[in-house]
Amino acid sequence: MSQASETDYQICTRCIHDSTVPGTVFDENGVCSYCHLYDKLDKMFPLGAEGERRLAALTDRIQRAGRGKKYDCVLGVSGGRDSTYTLYYLVKVLGLRPLTVHFNDGFGNPVAGENMKRSAERLGVDFRTITSDWRESKDLKIAFLKASTPDLECATDIGIATALYGAAAKENVKYVIIGQSFRTEGIAPLEWNYLDGKYLDAVHRLFGKHKLRKWTPEDPGFHLNVRHMAYYAAWRRIRAIPILYYVDYVRKDVDDIIKKEFDWVYPGAHYFDDLYQSLMFYVHRVKFGFDRRRYNYSALIRCGQMDRAEALQRMEQVYVIEDKKVIDLCIKRLGLTEAEFAEIMKLPPKTFRDYPTQYGLIRKMRIPIWIMSRLRLLPETAYDKYFSCG
Ligand SMILES: [Zn+2]
Repeated sequence: MSQASETDYQICTRCIHDSTVPGTVFDENGVCSYCHLYDKLDKMFPLGAEGERRLAALTDRIQRAGRGKKYDCVLGVSGGRDSTYTLYYLVKVLGLRPLTVHFNDGFGNPVAGENMKRSAERLGVDFRTITSDWRESKDLKIAFLKASTPDLECATDIGIATALYGAAAKENVKYVIIGQSFRTEGIAPLEWNYLDGKYLDAVHRLFGKHKLRKWTPEDPGFHLNVRHMAYYAAWRRIRAIPILYYVDYVRKDVDDIIKKEFDWVYPGAHYFDDLYQSLMFYVHRVKFGFDRRRYNYSALIRCGQMDRAEALQRMEQVYVIEDKKVIDLCIKRLGLTEAEFAEIMKLPPKTFRDYPTQYGLIRKMRIPIWIMSRLRLLPETAYDKYFSCG
């Protein structure tokens, strides 16, 4: 990571990405590379009439694949705004029949839990919670803290992905829907947010204590290596669709809809559907010197949902998600003492590059990945994620 010195500090003239964000370069007008990437994705996934046409074709494919089955698709839910609205949209607007799946790693916010149950009930859709093995989940969280990289939710993110693939495999469903959008969440630099199954295995081998349960197609646990991905994506032909890429998603309007439809309750901060985020924001800020709001707010600025001056002003304050009581609760739940956590905070910061990962292989496969993502055999943003973000 090339950290800029004080003298050559630069901040994008359009968003708030600055020279501290790994992989950021600026053009002659002072616009950052992430803004250019955003524009590229915005062209790849147009809204308006073309977006609607593509969404209709996609909905048709999903419905045809679901014919004669109990569900058309599996939708990952967290009780937060994005996935709650995605559920509403799938059922009420597109007329799809999803199975909603929530992955519980022991750190769910009860407010979000109620949101999930209520929204599924009101829509009359099935809601399934996949609870991870608590020993494994705790062990992996501690292992990543000890690995001293920013990827503290690597295991949870993999757990969410495998829970969705596992449920799709079990129900013989071909589409997994994800309620994420590059427009409102932004694009994380790799060094701030990296995940792959080999990385998880390596960190677990080095710092874990409990053996992970074996992989089975319908109960994959924390296993998502290349061969598991090949099983779900190539053999079972399960496709992951970020459906909000096609939808003009405006957070303010969405709040009104989901409050009216489901009495949805705001968990207190974005991403606060997961209590562990409180600890993560704290560790990122104090140990790694970054704040994920930098790319979240940048995204909202680019799509006109936040004012740049307001974003800069907000960045001066520590994010409200950092709550001492919740952080202490997380530490306690992991079974760590204050002193042990303090030791972890003192470990020198590292990145995924310090551990065995799939990244080298991914770099070597630059051209095939480009082709596969353009042919939509891989998520269409896969290429840009690995080659344009630092
Ligand atoms: Zn920018």
